This record gives sequence, structure tokens and C-alpha cells, in this order.
Amino acid sequence: MIAVGQPLQMQEMPVPVIGEKDILVRVRAAGICHSDVHYRAGVSPVRPLPMTLGHEVAGVVEQAGAQATNVKAGEQGGSALYITCGECSYCTTGNEQFCSKVKMLGHYTDGGYAEYIAVPARNAVLLPDEIPFEQGATLMCASATAFPYIAQSRLKAGETAAVFGVGDWAYRPYSLQRLSARWTSMPLTSNENKLKLAAQLWRHPCECETKATRVTRSGVSLEARAADVTLELIGLPQTMRQAVQCLDVMGRVRHCRYRRQAAGDRYVSRAVWERGRIIGSNDHLYSELPMVVELARRKVLDTSRVVTRTISLDAGAINRALE
Ligand SMILES: [Zn+2]
Ligand SMILES: [Zn+2]
Repeated sequence: MIAVGQPLQMQEMPVPVIGEKDILVRVRAAGICHSDVHYRAGVSPVRPLPMTLGHEVAGVVEQAGAQATNVKAGEQGGSALYITCGECSYCTTGNEQFCSKVKMLGHYTDGGYAEYIAVPARNAVLLPDEIPFEQGATLMCASATAFPYIAQSRLKAGETAAVFGVGDWAYRPYSLQRLSARWTSMPLTSNENKLKLAAQLWRHPCECETKATRVTRSGVSLEARAADVTLELIGLPQTMRQAVQCLDVMGRVRHCRYRRQAAGDRYVSRAVWERGRIIGSNDHLYSELPMVVELARRKVLDTSRVVTRTISLDAGAINRALE
């Protein structure tokens, strides 16, 4: 990426030189994420420019630094997308995402739309042979970000989850499969086309149309105490409030989107008085990536239909995909 709002350009770059704690990865696949659309358009600033985008990366370790003891040349894996200092209190307690020096791959440091990338060895996530590189790359972002918001919702067998919003989060492979396979889930949206799409993809399609999930143009009409867990994927004050209003007692609301408008006092008081739990969400931690890989290896998470198209490493092709 050379300039905001401009097509990506192909440029010759030297192969990165690695430090003692780094690895050089020959990239075999890099996912195109919706975030890349935002980066190119300037919705989310990329710096410094020029920058190589691409944060869902899988490949083969070409070279490992002298102090890189966790991986060897020839091993295959993906890279966690947050490059951090590795030394602060957040990094050393497994909460590295909150490191004050965090830099996201393909956003604040050169990413995977390239033949080679250099990353700290501690970012390496080994991929077993049975996961193709293309699918493995998507685990590093698309599935990984959905994993904690389902896992930490503490859904139990027999419980009901209401899902506010049928957008990219709801379709992320992990969330869609987990919600449709194990729980009664109710995708809620006021957009009829998205509702039709949800009915095709969710394993319990009729639930989109049950009384409890009736939708109206003005918003969601959801019966009170309909859900044990609500996954709020929109982030509007109205839907944040509704996500609490439809909870049963002891319910949990999981926020995955947030906008700065206040949700209002009633939102908080209802959750407080009824022993509810408000659970935040912001991406994923390194420690969660091996769990996601293991779920994919065991085919609990089916990644076989995740990749819809593959393109060559070519700026024009990437631009067309972003468009
Ligand atoms: Zn992504
Ligand atoms: Zn740190």
C-alpha cells in the first residue's frame, strides 16, 4: 500500500534480515480480510506508508534465529498477528494484545502479501500437515477472533443464545459452526436479505422466524427472558440495550462491537440487579491460537468451506478482491 485510497502496487523488496529471536517465513498463503478493505480506504489508518498488508499468514519457516528455540527451519505454521515487545507485564502474563508497543502485522509492520516475512519466533503457531496453508491462514484472524467471544460466553448445553447482527462476525467460521452445532441460536437482524442468508447457513434455520426472534423494520422485537446469552455484534446503543433486555436472569451478554454512545443507565442496572455478566471482547490472544488450530485439526471447526477463492500474489488480483 503506497497511499490511502489508492490501489495496492507491486514492489520489489529485499528479503527481510532476521534478528536472533526472529524467524523468516516463506509465505504460502495470506488471507484477505475485511480489515484490509478498511486499511486501503483509510477508514483505519495504516502507518508508516508504504506498507505491505496481510495479517492472516501461513507458510514455512525458512530460517530461524539463534535464539528461536520453539520452531525450526522447515516447519509450517502461521503467525499471530500482534507483534509485541515480549517483555512487559502484559506480554509476560499472556495478555500480549494489550502491550503498549503492540504493532499489528500488515497494519503497522509489513505483512503477508509478500514472498517472505520476518516475525518474532514467539509469534509462530505450528500448523499440522492436514491443515492446508490457505485454511491455516484464515485461522490466524477470521476464526481466532470469533473463538474467544464464543468460548468466554460460557454457553452450556441446552442454553439459548441470541445473536444480534448477521454480519461478518456472525459468519466467521468458528462462531457460525459453534452456534449452529451446539446451541439454540437466534440470529437477529432487521435486514431481510441477511435473514435469508442466515437461514441458509445456520443449522436451525426455522429459528430465525420463531416468535421470539420476530424482527421489524424499526428494530428487534424480542421477548423478554428469551436468551441465556446474547452475542451483541452490532454495537449500537439500541441493540446493546436490547441485548440485556432479552436476557434471562443470570444471563450473560457478550459485546463484540462497541460504539462510544452511552447505552444508558437501564442497561447497566438491569445487568447488575439480575446478576448478569457483561463480557467484553477484543480480538484474541496468542494462547488461543493453538486451541483454534487443534479444533480445526480435529475438524470440530470445519475450515473446508472457508476459502471461497484463491488468487496469485499479484497487486491487481488483490485489488480486485478488495473491491
Ligand atoms: Zn483479519
Ligand atoms: Zn509488551
